[in-house]
Amino acid sequence: MCGIFGIITNQDNISLGKVVLEGIKRLEYRGYDSCGIVALSNSELHVKKDSGKIDEIQKKINLADIPNNSKLALAHTRWATHGAPTRKNSHPHLDCSNKIAVVHNGIIENFLELRKMLTEKGHLFESDTDTEVIPHLIEIKMKEGLNFKDSVVEALKLLTGAYAVAVCHADYPDSIIVARKESPLVIGIIEGKSTYCASDIPAFLPLTRKCYIMDDDELAILKAGEVEFFDLISNERIEKELRTIEWSIDAAEKGGYEHFMLKEIYEEPIAIRNTLKISEELLRVFANILLSAENIYITAAGTSYHAALAGKFIISKFLGKHIQDIECSELETQLKGNLQKNSVIIAISQSGETIDIIEAIKWAKKAKSVKILTITNVVGSSITRSSDHVIVTNAGPEIGVAATKTYSTQVLTLALIAVSIAKIRKIISDEEIIKYYEALTGIPNIIEKFLEKNVDLIKYIVNNLEKNMNYFFLARGISIATAKEGGLKLKEVACRFIEGYSAASAKHGPISLVREGFPIIFIAPPDETYNRLVGNVMEFKSRGGRIISVVVESDEKITKLSDITIRIPQPADKYYNLFSPITFMPALQLLAYYSALAHDLDPDKPLNLSKTVTVH
Ligand code: GLU
Repeated sequence: MCGIFGIITNQDNISLGKVVLEGIKRLEYRGYDSCGIVALSNSELHVKKDSGKIDEIQKKINLADIPNNSKLALAHTRWATHGAPTRKNSHPHLDCSNKIAVVHNGIIENFLELRKMLTEKGHLFESDTDTEVIPHLIEIKMKEGLNFKDSVVEALKLLTGAYAVAVCHADYPDSIIVARKESPLVIGIIEGKSTYCASDIPAFLPLTRKCYIMDDDELAILKAGEVEFFDLISNERIEKELRTIEWSIDAAEKGGYEHFMLKEIYEEPIAIRNTLKISEELLRVFANILLSAENIYITAAGTSYHAALAGKFIISKFLGKHIQDIECSELETQLKGNLQKNSVIIAISQSGETIDIIEAIKWAKKAKSVKILTITNVVGSSITRSSDHVIVTNAGPEIGVAATKTYSTQVLTLALIAVSIAKIRKIISDEEIIKYYEALTGIPNIIEKFLEKNVDLIKYIVNNLEKNMNYFFLARGISIATAKEGGLKLKEVACRFIEGYSAASAKHGPISLVREGFPIIFIAPPDETYNRLVGNVMEFKSRGGRIISVVVESDEKITKLSDITIRIPQPADKYYNLFSPITFMPALQLLAYYSALAHDLDPDKPLNLSKTVTVH
C-alpha cells in the first residue's frame, strides 16, 4: 500500500510544488518509508526522491521546489513491498530514455520474468522494485510505434498482480495516464482548470469535492480540467459518474469509517488476499528450514505472540515436531545455556522495530548462530537486518494502535508455511492439500460475509454487556490463541479486565469468579475439542455465567446452551476449522471496537499504549 498523487493544470496562479507536497502528505497514512516527485517542464522530467518520512525529505531536498513553469507533476509516498526503503527504490521510476515516469501502488507478481526479459533486451534497472518494469515495458511499446495511451494499455496487459499507476511522458506535457486493477485510484476535477489523481480522496479534498472513482480494469487520460475514461480490456471509451464528496478530510482519510481500527478490520479481506500472494518459493524456503531443524522456537510479543500460538499449532500439525513458544522478552533468560546449534527461531513482529524481539534474535544469533526466520509487515525494518529469511505479510500500514489486519495476515502466513510443509512431506493426499488451499483462499469471502451481516448483532451484544467490567474468553485447542487475542483487544481498546484462558484450565481457579450474569465468551469451532468444550460451557452456565459463543453457521449444540451466538459463515469441516483463528477474529475485534465506543474511549488511541514498543 502506498499513496499516489498527481496534478495536471492550466492555471498559472498556483504553486504546483506546494499543491503536490500537501496532496502527498495527506496520503502519508498509507505509507511513509520514502517519497518522490516528478515534474514535467520544457520536455524534461525533474525527479526528486529519497527515503524517510515526507517532512524529513522535504527538509533535506525541498521536494516542493520544482520548475516554475511546470503544469504536471506526480508524487508517491511508499510502503515498500519489493526492495528495501531506500532512495533508489523510491518512486517515481523511469525508463532507459528518462522520458517515461511511473508511480505505482500494488504488487506486480510476474516482475521477475518481465525484468529478465527486459534485461535480455538491454534495459537497465536502477532499483529492486517490481514497479520499475512498467516504464520499461511502456518504452518498448512506444518504440514499436504505438501512441502513449496504447503503449500504456499494452504494457499493462503484460502484468499480473495489482496496480494503481500514474504515468507521464516528457513529450506529452498535456496528459497523465492512470489505470487501476485491485489498488484504489480516484480522480478529482475542477472542470476546465485542473485534474488530480490520487490513491484516496483526502489528497485533493481541500482543492475539489468533485471526483470520479475508478474501478478495476479502467484507464483514464487526464488533461487540465478534463478526463476521459476507457475500459482497459476492450480499450473502448466509457462514461463515469461525477460525484460530490461531502466528507470532512479527517473522515475521508479513514475512508468514511469513524476510526482507523474499524477501517482496518474492514481491510482484512484485502490484506489477506495480498498475503495469499506470498510466493510459493519463499514459503518453501521457510518450510525446508523448519523440516531440517532440530529445535524450533517461535517468539513474539503481544498480538504477534498470539499469532505465534495459533501458527505453531497449525505448523506442528504437519511438521511432526514440537515448536516451543517463548515470549521474546523471555527468550534469552529461558534459552541461555541450552540453545542448541541446529535451532531455528521464527520471529514475528508487526513493525519489525520492537526492541525486545530485535535484542532476542541478536542474542540468539550470537550465542549459537541459529537460523532466524522472520515474519513482519514492514520491509527493511530493523528486525529484517538480523534475520536469515524474511516474509513480509503485505497487510499495508496499520494506523490503529490495536493490531487487527496484521494479526490475521501473520496467522495466515504461518498457515501458508504449514501447508507448504504438508506438501513437501506428502503426509496428506493431494486432494486434501487442495481442500486446505480452498479453505485458505475462502477466508476473505467468509470475513466479508460476516462483516456485511453481523455488525448490528455485535452492537446489540455490546449494549447489553456494557456495564460489566470483567470477562472470560475461553476455548480449547487452537482456539485458545483466539480467546487470548480476542480478549486482548477488549482489554486494549475498551479497558475491560479479561482473562483469555483454556476452558479446561479455567476450572482450576478462574471459575471461582463466576456469578449470575458474568459474561463468558466461548470460541467454539466444531473441531476435535468441541464435545469437551460443550461440557465446559455447561459448567459455566450452571454457575450463572452469561454465555456468548462464537460458532459456525450450522452449530446446534453450543447454540442451545448459549444466551447468544455470533455465527461465522463458514463450513463445519476440519479444513476451515484449522484456520478459524483468522475467520473468527473479526467478530472479537468488532466486539472490542464497539465496546470502546460504548465506554467513550477512542479505539485508535488506547490508554498507555503505543503502536511500536521500543523500550524494555
Ligand atoms: N510494489 C511497489 C514497491 O515496492 C509499490 C508498493 C506499494 O504499493 O506500496 O515499491
